[in-house]
Amino acid sequence: MSLLNISCKKATYLISKKEQGKISLFDRLTLWLHLGICSLCKRFEKQTGFIIKQAKHTHTEEKLSEEAKERISKVLDSSY
Ligand SMILES: [Zn+2]
Repeated sequence: MSLLNISCKKATYLISKKEQGKISLFDRLTLWLHLGICSLCKRFEKQTGFIIKQAKHTHTEEKLSEEAKERISKVLDSSY
């Protein structure tokens, strides 16, 4: 079982790899097991996913009007 026991450092590394879509099935499993027992890494995963989603969002919304941008930033502010 020690093979599936990864450190938080390894877990955060795997999370960033996962966000880039470069994670193997085995790494995904070990990460999933770690997230099941570690709330710190779970929070880190949430934040990482959120930031990446927002970054993509901002990119695709580039051509929106100022009014729409303001509306989006208001939504983002309230979700913090
Ligand atoms: Zn951890």
